[in-house]
Amino acid sequence: KTRVLTGITTSGTPHLGNYVGAIRPAIAASRAPDAESFYFLADYHALVKVAEPARVQRSTLEIAAAWLACGLDPSKVWFYRQSDIPEIPELTWFLTCVAGKGLLNRAHAYKAAVDRNRAEQLDDDAGITAGLFMYPVLMAADILLFNAHKVPVGRDQVQHIEMARDFGQRFNHLYGEHFTLPEAAVEEQVATLPGLDGRKMSKSYDNTIPLFAPRAELKKLIAGIVTDSRAPGEAKGTEGSALFQLYQAFASSEETATFAQDFADGIGWGDAKQKLFERIDAEVAPLRDKYEALIAKPADIEAILRDGAARLRAQYAAPTLARLREAVGLRDLS
Ligand code: ATP
Repeated sequence: KTRVLTGITTSGTPHLGNYVGAIRPAIAASRAPDAESFYFLADYHALVKVAEPARVQRSTLEIAAAWLACGLDPSKVWFYRQSDIPEIPELTWFLTCVAGKGLLNRAHAYKAAVDRNRAEQLDDDAGITAGLFMYPVLMAADILLFNAHKVPVGRDQVQHIEMARDFGQRFNHLYGEHFTLPEAAVEEQVATLPGLDGRKMSKSYDNTIPLFAPRAELKKLIAGIVTDSRAPGEAKGTEGSALFQLYQAFASSEETATFAQDFADGIGWGDAKQKLFERIDAEVAPLRDKYEALIAKPADIEAILRDGAARLRAQYAAPTLARLREAVGLRDLS
């Protein structure tokens, strides 16, 4: 079976980008008969970005409920919270000891932070934590612990999968063939959704449309999407339009072609936003009802997560770590 692994950082409320880019395709893929799917709530990763305990906890609950509302079946896939698997940070240390520092220096997220400091004429590493610098190693542990074959990611994450391969390969070279080297699966047809301000929709940019915003809020947020100043009756371009890209992610190709024609015919922005609202709401409304029911019972979600982690530890994580501890020369804990 092909093992496929997907995580979402518990750094805020799940948004339409997480749905279109991760949740919707991952659930579709998990229905393939030859897939063994791993879905996790990346709460150790959240600590790199968020030092707000209540936010991390709330986000964990919301993202778990979102997966379940969208059709994840915890009896058919592995569904767990990263921090329920202590073997992950232990493996992170083993990999840290084989990871090239020079390679980590070149990681996009770290380099982007350095570039921002330089632009402001600060020291290169001002305000940068070792957590931000090291997170590709944690990510490698997430993947290698379960010998995942495929990791569906956006283009910007391909480099991190290559790093996971590199660390895995070095470990294998030193200690024997323990790890399967993962492949990044870049889903070309999966769009990167723009946020309200036109940049990539991201929990970190505060520009998101929450996946399960109540209808009235969804409508209000869509009304706030940036557009140009063209008046009704003036032809509008679809190229670079956040509104159009969002519509496309939720519509069939015929509907999208009709919407493009509306743009050419000079649809007013108010009408275009109304159409977008209706399209998104049609897909999300039935899921929203399930989400509301789930989120009202946090203890049930907690039980699902604990059960998933306990089974996963027993079947994969604990025996794998026992082998790895022995391979590197540490004591057997059992
Ligand atoms: P953060 O700002 O905390 O990094 P994020 O909202 O950008 O959060 P992640 O939790 O890092 O998202 O990513 C979870 C998944 O959602 C990944 O598979 C990622 O590719 C996908 N994803 C995130 N944002 C978008 C987006 N705007 N469009 C499409 N997919 C997205």
